Amino acid sequence: MDKATSPFSALGISDAFLSVLTDENYSDPTPIQLAAIPAVLFGKDILGIAKTGSGKTASYVLPVLQRWDEAKWTLKNRHVPVLVLVPTRELAVQVETVFNLLAQGLATRPKVMAVFGGVSINPQMIGMQDVQVLIATPGRLLDLIDSKAVHLAQVQVLVLDEADKMLDLGFKEEMDRVLALLPRKRQNLLFSATLSNAVNEITQLVLHKPEVIQVTDEPQEVQLIEQRAFRVEPERKGPFLRYLIRSMDMHQVLVFTSSSHSADHVADKLSKHGIEAEAVHGKKSNHARLGTLARFKAGKLRVLVATDLLSRGIDIEALPYVINYELPRSPKDYVHRIGRTGRAERSGMAFTLVTPEDQPHFKVIQKKMKQWLTLEGTDDVDLKSV
Ligand code: ADP
Ligand code: MG
Repeated sequence: MDKATSPFSALGISDAFLSVLTDENYSDPTPIQLAAIPAVLFGKDILGIAKTGSGKTASYVLPVLQRWDEAKWTLKNRHVPVLVLVPTRELAVQVETVFNLLAQGLATRPKVMAVFGGVSINPQMIGMQDVQVLIATPGRLLDLIDSKAVHLAQVQVLVLDEADKMLDLGFKEEMDRVLALLPRKRQNLLFSATLSNAVNEITQLVLHKPEVIQVTDEPQEVQLIEQRAFRVEPERKGPFLRYLIRSMDMHQVLVFTSSSHSADHVADKLSKHGIEAEAVHGKKSNHARLGTLARFKAGKLRVLVATDLLSRGIDIEALPYVINYELPRSPKDYVHRIGRTGRAERSGMAFTLVTPEDQPHFKVIQKKMKQWLTLEGTDDVDLKSV
């Protein structure tokens, strides 16, 4: 894939990983990867919930490898920087394989090792020298710690994969012991297929202000969302957008555009007219993106203008308004976009601006949604004072 256009690059993944992603036919990030990768690169704690087979492994392996590669942590002898706790031997081996696979393109590759019970501990003790990524089941890890083969005091990143299973299998006590040996300052990444009470419990124990990413099959309850569509001439779109925001007194509104360029343009125009707006899209740094998003979520930014990069995965709770300033390419993206509102059993409103030229495409979207909206005329709306 062309490096400049890889959707993984847009998430902040460096070029070193792109050829292996192409070789593995990872052409597009999965929803959990879309949401998790930028957050992990940014150093955030995350709780990632997505069903089995949704690509959770790469959603942490890629950004963790990149962080490891960039940070060049220098640690004392037998101290590991990256610790992945898993409930089973099978998963340990699987995760080890993915780390080694995805690290292929790095100039310096980390030493990756999986350890688990049921096999002789001696080779594991010897192998622990210079390990950079340790994948372990809790019991065997504690044995290795007790025999001073490995130390956790300098762990930078902790991953708990299949956290739900970890508790089901009765590893609570071992986990508590392991957690007590970790340094306070570290990044925590917790993944699970389900969000159970047990997972909530570890979340409290482990995570620090996590970004919660929950990918569900049905991205939203479409019924909870009131949808309206407006027919607007192209040159009246900007003023009409301001009119909507002002006349409906919107204070937290997500506006979607179809390109980064137009996201910047729309945000600029709004700001110039005194409506505070910022754009997020794939061409902004992760740092800028997450900062803007955090301000928006906290209610400190009135308008967030985004491309479809943002329409999946990232959970913004009960957002009251979404506006499609430009149509998405696919009906699926339309569903994801409007799914940003009306969540958590609260109702929301989704507005779509449709130019005469957009009309055929908007019909296609509605047909796929099996939901038809009356296109409301806007020519009579006075836009002079907005
Ligand atoms: P989970 O941990 O969520 O159950 P895995 O991480 O094991 O899922 O991934 C399931 C499968 O999907 C694996 O075979 C993996 O190689 C593949 N996969 C992961 N991400 C992608 C992607 N972006 N594109 C294509 N295949 C992917
Ligand atoms: Mg998994």
